[in-house]
Amino acid sequence: MVHMERYPEIRTKGRILMGPGPSNVHPRVLRALSAPVIGHLDKEFLEIMNLTKELLAKTFMTSNELTIPISGTGSAGMETSLVNFIEPGDKVLICVKGLFGQRMADIVERCGGELAVIQGEWGKIIEPDEIEKALKVHPVDIIGIVHAETSTGVLQPIKPVAEIAKKYGALLVVDAVTSLAGTPVRVDEDGMDIVYSGTQKCLSCPPGLSPVTMNKRAEKRLASRKNKVQSWYLDMTMLHSYWSKERFYHHTAPINMIYALYESLRIIHEEGLEARFERHTLHSNALKAGLTAMGLKLFAQAGYQAPMLTSVEIPKGVNDASVRNHLLTDYGLEIGGGLGPVKGQIWRIGLMGHSCTRRNVMLVLTGLEEALLSQGFNVQRGAGVSAAREVYEAT
Ligand code: PLP
Repeated sequence: MVHMERYPEIRTKGRILMGPGPSNVHPRVLRALSAPVIGHLDKEFLEIMNLTKELLAKTFMTSNELTIPISGTGSAGMETSLVNFIEPGDKVLICVKGLFGQRMADIVERCGGELAVIQGEWGKIIEPDEIEKALKVHPVDIIGIVHAETSTGVLQPIKPVAEIAKKYGALLVVDAVTSLAGTPVRVDEDGMDIVYSGTQKCLSCPPGLSPVTMNKRAEKRLASRKNKVQSWYLDMTMLHSYWSKERFYHHTAPINMIYALYESLRIIHEEGLEARFERHTLHSNALKAGLTAMGLKLFAQAGYQAPMLTSVEIPKGVNDASVRNHLLTDYGLEIGGGLGPVKGQIWRIGLMGHSCTRRNVMLVLTGLEEALLSQGFNVQRGAGVSAAREVYEAT
C-alpha cells in the first residue's frame, strides 16, 4: 500500500525566472503543452513538424534544409553538433572562455577527436586573431565556440571567427543555446556551419528540445564520414529522414514539446525577430544602467555584454546565498549565482524571452537594493530604478 499523503499533487505557484535559464513560459505555450497527444506519424502532427521546421529556420535566419529540433536539452544539441562531424583522430579546436566551452571540449575527447583548446579568460571574449594564430600552427577540421557564454554573460562576435574558419577549411560549430531569439544569430549571413540552441532560454519554452541547423558544407562532411556516427540516437542522417518527406521512423517525437516549440515560435514571429532583439537590448540596457547606478560592477567585458544575461560582481562582504534567498522568499524571483571559478563572485541575471520585461527589471533592481541594504552594503535608495527609468524615458 503506497501512502499517498507522502506524494502530494504538484502545486507550484511558479517564480519570476530571471536566472540563466529556464525563463518564464508564455501561457500560450503552456496551453499548447496540454493539447491532446496524437500519433507521431498522424497527418496533423506531420504538418506541425513541417511548420515548426520552417519557423525554426526563420529564427536561425537560414535556408538550411537540415534544421530540426533534437529531442533532448541544449546539451543534446551540443553533442549532436559534435558527434556527427568528429571521427576518431579528427583535429578539433575549442575556444574555452567559460563552462560551456569546457563541455564542448569534453565531448570532443569522448568522440576520439584530437583536441586543441584556446583557453580564454572567464568574462572576456576570445580575440579572432588568437584563433587565426592557432590555426596557422595547427590546422583543424572543426572549430567550436559559444556565442552567448551563459556562465559569464559574454557575447562573442561570431562573424570574424566564421571567416577564419572558412579561410582555413574548418567547419564552425556555434553554441547559440542562450543567444537564439534574444540577439541576432545570422546563420547564413555570418557563415556559421553548424549551430545548436535550447528551448528554455530566449525561446521561452520549457527545457526539452534543442534546435539545430547545419549547412551544405556540414551535410557534405556528414555524407563523407568513413565510420558510423558513434551515437545512434543523435545520428543526424537518421533524424533527418524522420523529419523530411521520407518520415522514416527513428524515435517517437516528444509530441507535446513540439507543440510547445511551435507555439513559442509563432509568438516570436508575431512579435518579429528584429523587435524582439530590440526589446532584449532595451531592457538589458536599463538593467545594466540600474545595477551600475547602485554601485555594482558588471563582470563581462565592456562592449561584449550579452543582452539576455547580465553578470554582475558580488560586492565584498555581501553574502551571495542570502541575497538570492531574499529575492526568492520576498519576491518569488530567481537569479543565478556564479559557476566554477566565479562561484560566489558573480550573480547572473537573465532577461530572456517572456521574462524580458520592464516590470522584471524594476523588480529585480528594487529587490536587490533591499537585499544589499539589509547586508550593510551602501546603496543610494532609488538610484537603480531611477537610472533604469531614464533609459526607458530616453527611448
Ligand atoms: N550551452 C549553453 C551556452 C548553455 O547556457 C547551456 C545551458 O544552460 C547549455 C549549453 C546546456 O543546455 P542544457 O542545460 O539545456 O542541456
